[in-house]
Amino acid sequence: STSLALYFQQRKRERLQDQFEPRPIEIRIDEVVDGVAGLIGNTPLVRIKSLSDALGVEILGKAEYMNPGGSVKDRVALRIIEDAERQGLLYPHTASRIFEGTVGSTGISIATIAKARGYDATIIMPDDVADEKVKALQALGADVERVRPASIVDKKQFVNLARERAAHFGQDSISSHSAILQESSSVVVTTTAGDIIAPDHGVMTVQDQDELRSKPRGFFADQFENSSNYAAHFDGTGPEIWRQTNGRVDAFISGAGTGGTISGIGQYLKSMNEDVVVVLSDPEGSGLYNKVKYGVMFDQKEAEGTKRRHQVDTVVEGIGINRLTKNMDYGLSIISDAFRITDAEAVAMSRYIVQHDGLFLGSSSACNLVACIKLVKKMGWKEGQRIVTILCDSGNRHYSKVRLVLPNDDYLHRTDIPIDSKIIDDLLTAP
Ligand code: PMP
Repeated sequence: STSLALYFQQRKRERLQDQFEPRPIEIRIDEVVDGVAGLIGNTPLVRIKSLSDALGVEILGKAEYMNPGGSVKDRVALRIIEDAERQGLLYPHTASRIFEGTVGSTGISIATIAKARGYDATIIMPDDVADEKVKALQALGADVERVRPASIVDKKQFVNLARERAAHFGQDSISSHSAILQESSSVVVTTTAGDIIAPDHGVMTVQDQDELRSKPRGFFADQFENSSNYAAHFDGTGPEIWRQTNGRVDAFISGAGTGGTISGIGQYLKSMNEDVVVVLSDPEGSGLYNKVKYGVMFDQKEAEGTKRRHQVDTVVEGIGINRLTKNMDYGLSIISDAFRITDAEAVAMSRYIVQHDGLFLGSSSACNLVACIKLVKKMGWKEGQRIVTILCDSGNRHYSKVRLVLPNDDYLHRTDIPIDSKIIDDLLTAP
């Protein structure tokens, strides 16, 4: 009976292989792209061999860590800056300055694109963030300001500070004319000479416009509330996934920090096929799980988790949050299920995936992959289904703070997280 079981296993694998006809990735080797922005997006979809073979269900990861800035956030930073230029809030090469409050990869992406487009960048972050992130930002020419961690309702909280700094930067030099571009864009008329006539505001000549453009201004990127974040995924990442899978996707799984990824991709896939299941993977201490499952942000127990999340370094960085952002709200109604992923599970998966697949991934990617297994088990899927998830960034972003995979387990020993390599095997073999 052992050989019979092996035979069926073999047949199952062959069938899986037959069904797996990935659309060729758009090859860029013989194509010249224009600057660093041309390297953003069109990331491969990688079949996670170990998990797919063990489950009989295809687990496909969107390899966002292959973006030039090392994460999914390159798409967001590019779209935010391009949209701001279209709206006349930023003009390239004018000594304007982009401000953002971030602990994560967004700062690196903004600093990258800022340089490519002729802007300066100020990144404000809590002072307990890993040193290598600060060094990377400084290498990219960004000013880094580190402040004491504070609650979102505190004026000195890093996101609030970024908003405040942007509002005051270059304010004196912004002429009242800018209101014409910003407030009346739907009714302006441009003459053949290039003068802009806005009926309620007057006329802005070509010379006025040049003068305005030459003046520096501050711009707050605002990844949490700025809908350009959502749009980057709805117009970019979502359609890419749809093309790469020939539209055959059963489920999409993602964690949420700002919520842009899960909302944008989720809404796009749903718009193409409403049967696609969109699922949240949420780390310990985040309130989003309860929001999705029960419609409330957190109960008392969850509030304790919140405290822990802000006071101790967290194992999983980048996802999990305790307030409802605009970018999360865009997708909340289409998220049909959520899984809470423990730190121990995330750690175990980080190691498992290096050892079995040679993929060195960041901790939020590990959370997503654990959630994939949990969904397969919950749905009772046995073969042929296909789940797409996001591999947001690489493990090398997480060296100093979270030693998830390194043989040196100092960090984990200082926490109460068990290091148990059997966790994933147990999840995979569970009924
Ligand atoms: N993974 C990592 C490593 C991140 O830094 C972030 C963003 N903070 C996310 C996932 C979540 O993406 P989003 O902000 O689109 O929800």
